[in-house]
Amino acid sequence: MKVGVIGGGAAGLMAAYAASLKDEVTLFEKNEKLGKKIYITGKGRCNVTNDCEPEEFIKNVVSNPKFLIGAVYSFPPRNLMELVSSNGVPLKTERGNRVFPVSDKASDITGCFETLLKKNGVNILLGTEVSSVITENGRATGVKTVDREFIFDKIIICTGGLSYPLTGSTGDGYRFAGIAGHSVVAPAPALVGINLKGGDHVALQGLSLKNAGISIFSGNKKIFSDFGEMLFTHFGVSGPVILSASSRINRAEVRGMKLSIDLKPALNEETLDARILRDFDAYKNKDFSNALFDLLPRAMIPVVIGRSGIDPSKKINEVTAKERKTLLHILKDIEFEIDSLRPVEEGIITAGGVSVKEINPKTMESKLVKGLYFAGEVLDVDALTGGFNLHIAFATGYAAGIAG
Ligand SMILES: Cc1cc2nc3c(=O)[nH]c(=O)nc-3n(C[C@H](O)[C@H](O)[C@H](O)COP(=O)(O)OP(=O)(O)OC[C@H]3O[C@@H](n4cnc5c(N)ncnc54)[C@H](O)[C@@H]3O)c2cc1C
Repeated sequence: MKVGVIGGGAAGLMAAYAASLKDEVTLFEKNEKLGKKIYITGKGRCNVTNDCEPEEFIKNVVSNPKFLIGAVYSFPPRNLMELVSSNGVPLKTERGNRVFPVSDKASDITGCFETLLKKNGVNILLGTEVSSVITENGRATGVKTVDREFIFDKIIICTGGLSYPLTGSTGDGYRFAGIAGHSVVAPAPALVGINLKGGDHVALQGLSLKNAGISIFSGNKKIFSDFGEMLFTHFGVSGPVILSASSRINRAEVRGMKLSIDLKPALNEETLDARILRDFDAYKNKDFSNALFDLLPRAMIPVVIGRSGIDPSKKINEVTAKERKTLLHILKDIEFEIDSLRPVEEGIITAGGVSVKEINPKTMESKLVKGLYFAGEVLDVDALTGGFNLHIAFATGYAAGIAG
């Protein structure tokens, strides 16, 4: 069988490898090198998968977890780790089961696949952009590039989403899918920063909170809550817990949602009040503005004072019990208004994509067009950070590659 794979990212590399175990494969990549996005994953170290059981894996999938059950159980993280480590790239597992090459070099992952493809005789066409997919009578029959037409029995679209377009993912697969009759769920940014209204975040930019309690409210309804590390930036907020939050709220109108930060998540109101009283006792003759250094990061102090309405030059022993309670409530619940998410191009991943309702979850084959397959980020699937997104690309790529 002749197989054409469009896109040489994680999904395409795996699809081409799996197909090459039995078929004659041509891989089209529009960049001059393979896996351009892989190079920047995990800050250049490539968090290649998450060493967990499939059941745990599926819990970390945000969009369409059920659709991925078949692919992840058939090609779990251990299979990927075995494949990569037995082909010259030893791996290590870090905090949260995140798996990286021992070398800390993302290029080793791409190199490993490149070697496997060459060994298996895959025809790799770099600098070759596919401009359209040819279909005839409900069957995919070939692809067109600018100057040539190629005939295939099977075509696997692995063109990625819309995030970090400089790596080559410019949404071509959505177009191919649409022309073939597929529905495409509107792409949305995921694992992305959040723009805030007001100016307080500007004063706080650069401040990183190691353990903040984050809640997001739509009206009075709490729609997200978690603890973790976050960072204030010139536009608003980012960092691990904010990225996770963005993936949970990106399907709704985010403008006007409230972000509430608990600056002291380890202390309940009673213990925090006792803590404030202790500090106030130690600094009773100081100004209010000079009594918060033990309690808060320096950059946060003017913001908290501004919100409390307490005169910064007031002596601590003159601060009333009511004012102290106001301070306490701000520390447990400092609110910011959300304006929007950062654009999809800045997302670590694109949510949305080819509707999984029209794809066979075992083989990744289109239910509408025979011989047409999809794998990776082009599909309407996305997960949290931790190696899950790359593994989704590998597992769906594997399913598509061995099918048929
Ligand atoms: C900064 C950053 C860090 C990340 N870190 C991690 C991490 O550590 N762990 C993790 O699990 N996930 C991480 N991700 C997410 C992960 O990179 C993606 O989930 C994964 O790369 C998706 O793989 P893919 O093959 O589906 O798409 P892509 O990697 O986007 O590959 C698509 C390929 O198709 C090619 N292409 C597109 N259109 C055409 C065409 N018409 N003709 C020919 N070729 C075409 C593109 O050039 C590209 O090479 C990160 C993402 C970013 C942006």
